[in-house]
Order: sequence, then C-alpha cells, then structure tokens
Amino acid sequence: AQRDANEPEFLQAVSDVTESVLPFIRDNPRYQKEKILERIVEPERVVIFRVPWVNDRGEIEVNRGFRVQMNSAIGPYKGGLRFHPSVNLSILKFLAFEQTFKNSLTGLPMGSGKGGSDFNTRNRSDGEVMRFCQSFMTELFRHIGSNLDVPAGDIGVGAREIGYLFGQYKRIKGSFTGVLTGKGSEFGGSLIRPEATGYGLVYFTEEILQNKGDSMQGKKVTISGSGNVAQYALQKSIELGATVVSMSDSDGTIYDEAGIDDEKLAYIMKLKNNHQRIHEYASKYKCEYLENEKPWKIPCDIALPCATQNELNQEDARQLIDNGAICIAEGANMPCTSKAIHLIEESNILYGPGKAANAGGVTVSGLEMSQNSLRFSWSREKVDHKLRNVMHQIHKKCLHYGRTEDGHISYEKGANIAGFVKVAEAMIALGVV
Ligand code: NDP
Repeated sequence: AQRDANEPEFLQAVSDVTESVLPFIRDNPRYQKEKILERIVEPERVVIFRVPWVNDRGEIEVNRGFRVQMNSAIGPYKGGLRFHPSVNLSILKFLAFEQTFKNSLTGLPMGSGKGGSDFNTRNRSDGEVMRFCQSFMTELFRHIGSNLDVPAGDIGVGAREIGYLFGQYKRIKGSFTGVLTGKGSEFGGSLIRPEATGYGLVYFTEEILQNKGDSMQGKKVTISGSGNVAQYALQKSIELGATVVSMSDSDGTIYDEAGIDDEKLAYIMKLKNNHQRIHEYASKYKCEYLENEKPWKIPCDIALPCATQNELNQEDARQLIDNGAICIAEGANMPCTSKAIHLIEESNILYGPGKAANAGGVTVSGLEMSQNSLRFSWSREKVDHKLRNVMHQIHKKCLHYGRTEDGHISYEKGANIAGFVKVAEAMIALGVV
C-alpha cells in the first residue's frame, strides 16, 4: 500500500478484493507460498506517453496517454480505453485490476488491461476527435496486437473513437487484424457488442432475483448515467417487464415517474449521439429534473448504477435501503464506495458487484475476437445466446464461492474468489514470471 499511497482508487479496488480473497488464501496456503496476491496487484507493464495534436483553431494541445498491461496469465491483455479529464494512473490501475477478475469470470481466454487519456471529448469536433485518436494510436500501436493486447471502448470511447483508432492502426501496420473490439459491424465488429454490457447486467440481475424466487417483472428501477451501458440496461429492463424511472449525466438526473419507454429511449440515444445533455429530456417530456443530483433518492426496487466509480456512497445506500430497495447491481466499474458495499451486504439486500454484473461487455468483446480469428460473423441470436449463457455461468460461479458463514450468498465474495482462482492457478503453472 505504501508503494501506491497516491493511488486511492487503486488501493480501494485492491482492498475490496483482498477482504474476500485473504481468508480463502489462508485456507489454501499454496497461493500464499507462491505470492499470488503480491504478484497479481503489480501490473506486468505500464506505458505512459505524450499525445500531441492540433485543434480546430490550429493550436497544439498535449494530452497524456496510458496503457496498463495488468495480467496476461490466461490470455492477451484485454480491457477498454477511457477518454475523460479525470483519467490518471490510479483510475486506470483500479480498472485494470478489476478487469483481471472480470475477464477470468467470463471463462474466456482474456488477460487484463486498461488504458486511455485525460482527453475530454466534450465540445470537440469530429475532426479534433479524429486527430487526437490518430496521435494516440501513433504511439499505442507499438504496444498492442491481436495476440498481445486488444483494447476496447469505455467512458468517452464509443463507436466513433474506435473507428478512428482502428483506422490509424491499420494504416500504420498495413494489415487488417482484430486488434480492437467494439468495431463497427461493417469492419469486423460483433453484433450485440453495443448492447452487451447493459443486457448482461440485466441478465445477471434477473439471475440473482430468480435465485430468490423473484424477477424483474413489475419492478421499479433507477439507472444512473445515460451512455452506452445505461441505455441498453434500460432497454432490457423494459423488455423484462420493469419500469425505469431515471437516467442521469454529470449535470443531473431526470425522474420520469411514468417510466421511460422505447420511444423515449430512442430520444435519449439521439441526444447522446449529438452530444447533448439529459436535461433536454425533462423539457421535452415535462418530467422532474434534479440538477446536480444522482438518482439514489428516488424510491425504487432495483438500482443500477451505470455511470462511473464512487457514484453511490454510504448515505446513498442508506437512502435506497430505507426506501425499500431489494437489489443494487453495478453496470459501472466500482460505482459503490467500500462503505456503501459494507452497508448493502450487512442489510442483506441483493448486491451484484461490477466485475460479475457488467462482464457482458468484455464477454462479447471476447466473442468478437473469436469471430475475427474465424473471419466470420455470428447472428444476433447466436451472440445473445452465448452472452446469456456466460452471465448464467458467472452467476453459478458466484454461488459456488460466495456462501458466507451465516449461510447467505455474498456475490462480492463469490466473484472475487472465483475470478482469483483461475488466474492464480495459471500463474502457478507458468512459474515465477
Ligand atoms: P459512456 O461514456 O457511454 O457514458 C458514461 C455516462 O456516465 C454518461 O452519461 C456520463 O455523463 C456519465 N458520467 C461519466 N463520468 C461521470 C462522472 N464523473 N460523474 C457523473 N456522471 C458521469 O460510458 P459507458 O456507458 O461505456 O461506461 C459507463 C460505466 O460502465 C463506466 O464505469 C465503465 O467503466 C463501465 N463499463 C463499461 C463497459 C462498456 O462496455 N462500455 C463494460 C464494463 C463496464 P456525461 O456525459 O455528463 O459525462
């Protein structure tokens, strides 16, 4: 911890995992002898680089680029790129560390990584975004490859950015390989990849509810964020018979008591594609707008945080529980603070940790890699079926490792241990590397 003292998000992620995994390691001393925990927290490699580019006014701007190559014991490094002004080494190391366990849980052969830049896509023209992406890839290309490291999207990196990044990689290397996932379906992308994280989140939520003899049908759901994950979590929730009453962005939350239906969702997608703000929704559909607020005060049965890390704190958790929530499942990475997680688990309401609940995105990224290797594309139905099956298997693994002393299931414990075991076994088999 001393070595990483100035990396609070990374320490938070490590401490959350360690809490579940340490007792398990004590019961299995070979993991201790092999120093798996000490090795697994240390990235195999971190690359930090300058990203100079020219804005529309002809001025030079300089951003910082990163790639954290965390663990390649079970496959090539795999994890998204985030473009957001808050990006720093601590945030990317926490995301890469989480990715180790998540990718392991999917059962697919993917190691872990994460990268990105402090570049802000907000209020930038397409031309500026393209020039930035080209400069970013002009350095990143030498560190990635279809058998080495396969980045994808994350906050601020959607279809547009992946297209520009892939275009530049292809141009520099002079070959067409599956080096990025989240590509457009015209140039090697998988069907269902845009939907995968949100759909997977709702499939997983349905699994944990069904395990209690319940379902999404008739439930009132609050969702934060209004980006990729939030949109498709909303779509699948409605499909399974729930009513979704909120969405948000970093400026505020809309509260639509009547429920956001498919037509209203189409409007939100249009807003987002045009880089507009969620408050426009409140004006159009005459619903409440909670400026600078998150959705957690709104009474609901199920809360799905789908925006960013640490967006749901202990007070928010208290409010949700007092309002009768029965389940909180994480679409975002580490949206609940450690104290919030403790409170949720103590209260015995259902908690789906991100590394399990949002693993659908990287699952379909893994399937995109398979399709690229086969030079073939699968139908929507086939990919969706595989996604659903992986989320079912992840749920089973959580049940297997997640039983607590008092007989409850802790999905947090189950996901951390199940994710750990596969990587630890591979690391032991590979020797001290
Ligand atoms: P998008 O960029 O598509 O959307 C992000 C949403 O969250 C936007 O509504 C954004 O609002 C909001 N947001 C971002 N940062 C903040 C902040 N600091 N405070 C408040 N709101 C914020 O990203 P994704 O939907 O792809 O990602 C959302 C979360 O899901 C992230 O935690 C990501 O790591 C995680 N995730 C994503 C996966 C994927 O496949 N895309 C896979 C697994 C996890 P605004 O426009 O105002 O910034």
